[in-house]
Amino acid sequence: RTKELGKNGYSFYDSNVRTISSREMQLEQGLHKALEQDEFLLHYQPRFDLHSGRMAGVEALVRWHSPEYGMVSPAEFIPLAEESGLIVPIGELILRKACEQNRRWIDAGYPPVRMAVNLSLVQFRQAHLVDRIEQVLRETGLPGELLELEITESVASQNERAVAERLQAVKARGITVSIDDFGTGYSSLSYLRQYPLDVLKIDRSFIRNLPHSSDDTAIVQAIIAMAHSLHLSVCAEGVETKEQLDFLREHGCSEVQGYYLSKPKAAEEIETILGTTIASRIESAS
Ligand code: C2E
Ligand code: MG
Ligand code: MG
Ligand code: MG
Repeated sequence: RTKELGKNGYSFYDSNVRTISSREMQLEQGLHKALEQDEFLLHYQPRFDLHSGRMAGVEALVRWHSPEYGMVSPAEFIPLAEESGLIVPIGELILRKACEQNRRWIDAGYPPVRMAVNLSLVQFRQAHLVDRIEQVLRETGLPGELLELEITESVASQNERAVAERLQAVKARGITVSIDDFGTGYSSLSYLRQYPLDVLKIDRSFIRNLPHSSDDTAIVQAIIAMAHSLHLSVCAEGVETKEQLDFLREHGCSEVQGYYLSKPKAAEEIETILGTTIASRIESAS
């Protein structure tokens, strides 16, 4: 009863909303300028193959260093960029920067890794998405085999034919397609057999309480088993401890990513990790 009254406290709710939206409006304005002034940079987080122990790839994670607002988290500004449509040019810039960086690493003679780029649903809805991706690959000279696109389950719940066509076109270029934050979306699992996917990335909320939570160990084991039966690879996100890593290895997870092995880092710092193994990472950390 008291709770209900509190919830309906109109003036409280109203002022709360206004405070949030004014920062949002400022940030959204800031995003226009950020795009013009090139205020975005990418950090990269390594991903390791549990079978070979080798570093298999990196995920590009955008950082916005704003002169006005300081470091703004992508969790805060990506949704604003999506609402305003600015994610389309920003996303294309991110894709280009990521592919250019991977090309530079290849040219410098580092062992090749796959570059994973997050793609928002709004970008995926663009009819010219595939043309743009092909253009970026052509201009940067990056082989499609060294690019991975991370999409969320929200993409899978869109118009079936358009999604299937775009994914098939992307796959025809040798690009890997993964489902990010797997297990947190609301979509039916039937998309797993409709679309040409390669990797399920288990959301870090399921990894956090491994190996102590019996619910989470059951869920993670079930996701790994399902992925394998569907001939998909499976990557665990947010691995922070040795116990989590050991559990995932014992249960046949294909790849791991997380602070335990490396936080996202600037390109120059990643260069010292390219070509290393899990064993050497653990050794250098201890
Ligand atoms: P995501 O794609 O699921 O990326 C993983 C997030 O988890 C990253 O946060 C990463 O720094 C964080 N993370 C990685 N390992 C650990 C760990 O062991 N523990 C914990 N607690 N966190 C870990 P970040 O960089 O803040 O990005 C947040 C989200 O913002 C991303 O989630 C993604 O949805 C979005 N995002 C980031 N960069 C881009 C981008 O270039 N384009 C788009 N469309 N979205 C992006
Ligand atoms: Mg991601
Ligand atoms: Mg994720
Ligand atoms: Mg996410």
